[in-house]
Amino acid sequence: MLELMDLGFRYPGRDWVFRHTNLTIASGSITSILGPNGKGKTTLLRCIAGLTNPEEGRVIRDPNIGYVPQATTSSFAYSVFDMVLMGRAKKVSTFGTPGKADVAQTRSVLERVGIDHLAASNFTELSGGQRQLVLVARALNTDCTFMILDEPVSALDLRNQAHVLQLLRELAAEGMGILLTTHHPDHALHLGGDAVVMYGPEEIVVGGVESLVTGETLSRLYGIDVATETVLDRGSPRTVVYTRYDNFAVADDDLRLKESSLS
Ligand code: ADP
Repeated sequence: MLELMDLGFRYPGRDWVFRHTNLTIASGSITSILGPNGKGKTTLLRCIAGLTNPEEGRVIRDPNIGYVPQATTSSFAYSVFDMVLMGRAKKVSTFGTPGKADVAQTRSVLERVGIDHLAASNFTELSGGQRQLVLVARALNTDCTFMILDEPVSALDLRNQAHVLQLLRELAAEGMGILLTTHHPDHALHLGGDAVVMYGPEEIVVGGVESLVTGETLSRLYGIDVATETVLDRGSPRTVVYTRYDNFAVADDDLRLKESSLS
C-alpha cells in the first residue's frame, strides 16, 4: 500500500514539477501514470520510491519497493544472471555469498520474465529492450511487494510488451501493488485499475482508467487529436485508442473551447 499526502517537488531554482499531489494505491492494484514528456513522471516516481526527497508533503510507502528505472547502460560487464542475482543482495548477509536458494530463485525469475536464454549474456551487449526485461527481473528478484516501473515497455517489441503487461497483471493478482509510467494509453486500459493524468504541476487527476482515459482527456493531455472506439474483440467489447497523427488542430480547438467556457 502506498499513500502520497500533499506531495510537492521542485529542482533548485526551478518551478514546481508537481505540488499538492495526493494518491493512494492499494496492494494488488495497478496504477498507470500518463503525461507528456517533461511533465514530471520520472521525478514523481523517484520521490515515491524514496530516491529523491520531496520538498513538501509525505509518502507512506511499503518498505519492500522494487524500482525499475528506464533501461540504463551499466559500465560493469556483468552477466544477465549476475545482474538479476544482485536483486537478492538485501537478503544475503554482508559477508555472505548467495546460497543455493538465491541461485534457484534467480533462475525461476529469469524464466518467468522470459529471459532465461540470456542468462550468460553480458548486460552491456544487450539491446535496450532486453535490458529492460533484465531490470524487471532484478526488481522481481528482491521479493518486493510493491513495484514501481518507469516506462517498462518503451523499448520492447509487441510480443515482449504483451509479456510484461501479462506479468504485471499476474503480479497484481498475486497481491503486489503496481505503479508505472507509460506512453501507451491502451496499455493503461488493458491493465485496468487507476490512471494518474499529469496535466500540470497542480493539475494531477486520479481516477479509474475506464472513465479517465478517454479521447477528450488524451487530446488535451498530449495536444493532438486522440480518439477512442469500442470494438468487438473476439466477441467482447474493448476500447481502442488511436491518434489522428495529422490533426494537431482539433486538440488546439478543444483547448481553446475549454478555456473560453471556463472564462
Ligand atoms: P518526464 O518523466 O515526465 O519526462 P521528468 O521527471 O524527467 O519528466 O522531468 C520533469 C521536469 O524536470 C522537466 O522539465 C525536466 O527538464 C526537469 N528536470 C529533470 N531532471 C532535472 C534535474 N536534475 N535538474 C533540473 N531539472 C530537471
